[in-house]
Amino acid sequence: MSDKKSFLDEAGMNTRLSHIGNDPTEFHGFVNPPVVHASTVLFPNARTMETRAQKYTYGTRGTPTTDALCEAIDALEGSAGTILVPSGLAAVTVPFLAFLSAGDHALIVDSVYFPTRHFCDTMLKRLGVTVDYYDPMIGAGIEALIKPNTKLVHTEAPGSNTFEMQDIGAIAAAAHRHGCVVTMDNTWATPLYFKPLDHGVDISIHAATKYPSGHSDILLGTVSANETHWDQLKEANITLGICGSPDDSYQILRGLRTMGVRLERHQESALNLARWLEEREDVARVLHPALPSFPGHDLWRRDFKGASGIFSFVLKVDSAEQFKPKAHAFLDALRLFGLGYSWGGFESLAVHVGLSDRRICKAPTEGPVLRLQIGLEDVADIRRDIEAGLAAAAAV
Ligand SMILES: *Cc1c(COP(=O)(O)O)cnc(C)c1O
Repeated sequence: MSDKKSFLDEAGMNTRLSHIGNDPTEFHGFVNPPVVHASTVLFPNARTMETRAQKYTYGTRGTPTTDALCEAIDALEGSAGTILVPSGLAAVTVPFLAFLSAGDHALIVDSVYFPTRHFCDTMLKRLGVTVDYYDPMIGAGIEALIKPNTKLVHTEAPGSNTFEMQDIGAIAAAAHRHGCVVTMDNTWATPLYFKPLDHGVDISIHAATKYPSGHSDILLGTVSANETHWDQLKEANITLGICGSPDDSYQILRGLRTMGVRLERHQESALNLARWLEEREDVARVLHPALPSFPGHDLWRRDFKGASGIFSFVLKVDSAEQFKPKAHAFLDALRLFGLGYSWGGFESLAVHVGLSDRRICKAPTEGPVLRLQIGLEDVADIRRDIEAGLAAAAAV
């Protein structure tokens, strides 16, 4: 196995995705790890029980199934350790609770996933933590916003729904000069296309609900820490009693095996459609970091190895009164696309994005923002469906 491990360390991404995590020789040669359902773990004698001197001690502290997934995620993230939590949102809130205390201040990117903002504005506020939102394009300028009590800087790139890029390396360097923890919600890129810890981030957050799951049927979050922050993260995980279930962990490990090839297809189809939409008269703008026209594209090209399958476009309309009727006409004419939240699954989804929560990155004024998750269907069919939506919007 040690031979295999060193082979994998130097192997390509799809090879690693096919083999990381579990070790079949530990389970009688079965290719996949068993799904261990557990609360109680038995000890052979009182002495072992008292000292807890064995690998597994209780269900909340890990099983062979959750360990297999954590090891796979560590291999992808280059992290010292990974915790599993029941949702992507918990993957944000648990590290916030791990590293923030009453009297602290946190800096949160303004293009953040909305439920993260809600957590900051309600529960963090109630616990005595103050928060300021910052411009995603701020880069090294974040230093001017850091106060003596700033303890955490949260990044997310590209931003939710509008896909603003961030100079993660510059932000992390400035934050570290002041002793702040740097967290990043890396759900869009996955560790295949961006490895946060290589760019100075301390805590990498992932909604495994999205691409690792890939099938719109699992909720799970992963939080991965570098060496310096691992003990404190793990301690919070144990203290809160928030853990991922064995069944869900098994399914996410299964999803990882095909995530590389799925992402290649998501990327190719989404870019194909983004380029096509950009040429259309009825589209004001396409918000996709891999398009050269997109502000922040240079950061994407410098730091990221690829793009995933979700982006937005701004429909061109004549007046503010037309925003909602045209957006709804577009959505209601779609037959292939489902109208639903989340993304990363095999099927295409569309949503009219609300941006009223934004303080700095205001909503585009040219028209409504429509977010498309491009699934694994044939791209010609997806295009045909979008064409029908655009025709319906034009008829309003
Ligand atoms: C979906 C999402 C989450 C939350 O994941 P859930 O499992 O749905 O709670 C967190 N961050 C980002 C960027 C997301 O897109």
